Amino acid sequence: MVRLVAFQPTPFIRGICCTVAARVKSRPLLLRGGFYHCALAFCPVHRKAPENSRIYKVKPILKSTKLSNVCYDIRGPVMERAKQMEEEGQRIIKLNIGNLAPFGFEAPEEIQQDVILNLPNSSGYSDSKGMFAARKAIMHYCQSKKIMGVALEDIYIGNGASELIVMAMQGLLNSGDEVLIPTPDYPLWTAAVTLAGGTPRHYVCDEANDWNPDLADMRSKITKNTRAIVVINPNNPTGALYSDNILREIIQIAREHELIIFADEIYDKMLYDGATHTSIASMADDVLFVTLNGLSKNYRACGYRSGWMVVSGEKKHAQDYISGLTILASMRLCSNVPGQFAIQTALGGYQSINDLVAPGGRLCKQRDLAYQLLTEIPGVSCVKPKAALYLFPRFDPKIYPIKNDQQFILELLETEKVLVVQGTGFNWIHPDHIRVVFLPNADDLTEAIGRIARFLENYRKHHGTEISR
Ligand code: PLP
Repeated sequence: MVRLVAFQPTPFIRGICCTVAARVKSRPLLLRGGFYHCALAFCPVHRKAPENSRIYKVKPILKSTKLSNVCYDIRGPVMERAKQMEEEGQRIIKLNIGNLAPFGFEAPEEIQQDVILNLPNSSGYSDSKGMFAARKAIMHYCQSKKIMGVALEDIYIGNGASELIVMAMQGLLNSGDEVLIPTPDYPLWTAAVTLAGGTPRHYVCDEANDWNPDLADMRSKITKNTRAIVVINPNNPTGALYSDNILREIIQIAREHELIIFADEIYDKMLYDGATHTSIASMADDVLFVTLNGLSKNYRACGYRSGWMVVSGEKKHAQDYISGLTILASMRLCSNVPGQFAIQTALGGYQSINDLVAPGGRLCKQRDLAYQLLTEIPGVSCVKPKAALYLFPRFDPKIYPIKNDQQFILELLETEKVLVVQGTGFNWIHPDHIRVVFLPNADDLTEAIGRIARFLENYRKHHGTEISR
């Protein structure tokens, strides 16, 4: 509780208070909130407190307890500090966010044109699950990925996969329900489970085994309260791509314990070295699958907020949950309509993403460069990503005895002006990894990783762990 002691202002102070209050009244809300209420608090003319009271109390406004353990460190306090530094005029090289357009990866021209062309038809709400043509295109995409038995009503379009992840968890979980989520994870999953009142239980992905899920660990985390397994494939932050065998075994676990599989496949076209992606939902029809995908990454259209969720497999016993999803979709009326107009064009015809990930393509070249430069640093190792946009390098704890990886990346930011995300921001267990986004062009990547190398060299000198080579 904040206490402001009332006082008797001089006519001069009273004049200032009244002027400030009157002026800021017409300013934007954010500005107004602080100044106007300050002016009101101190000015006897504007103050609403009883005439005779000497104590003016302001009750702090708290966020809900539902948010107590919810965090999303990709846009956390270190990024806030980076913003502040930029406002002070410093140039930061950003290796922190998988947002493609600022690095020159624009949505294909044809998609942009279709959105522009259809903008005049976008003023009304659409069907709450999404427009017919867009859902039809998604249905055909499911067929091409061999996800069978998907009808239009099984498809929900949302404001990015993010909205649908939150919706899917809100619709499913009661307090005490548990969901198996990989560690490291894309942290929205952990946050969405927590926000929905569930408990995230993290199963380990094994770095020594190309970051594949440790199936024994997954099994060991199952309890009578477990409802679902989240599979992020291709994976953010590790860049792993799971084999069909691993996927089959995950299905077997789900089958044995009657669990739903949530498959986040948003990077399914960002594959290197000729790799192919299998949708886990294509491998069985006796388990319930909810598959998420969208335009953000494969089509470089993060800002269009256009994603989808497909329910498939054993739907018969899930009618109640499905009706819950439909209620939630209706409650937000519909997703962004201009963004929906991009879907049909994106999914059909020429797939320019293939050029970017092919040998010699910009994404492939940048992955190779970042991997090479990072792994040349003493004490840094990394599993080469097979997919997506990220590297998740490890700092040997004997050489880099990091206690707090958020503090570590803050120091990197302050000294070298390079922004990354700490491994624990992805619910990774040890403070010994960072995530590096390889979207900046080759010159910026070289410069940024050079600065990381210099920072680490100073770190080794400071800790007396320099390796003689
Ligand atoms: N899932 C994963 C694994 C991601 O990495 C991201 C974004 O980075 C999303 C979902 C969110 O995608 P969207 O932009 O469609 O909300």
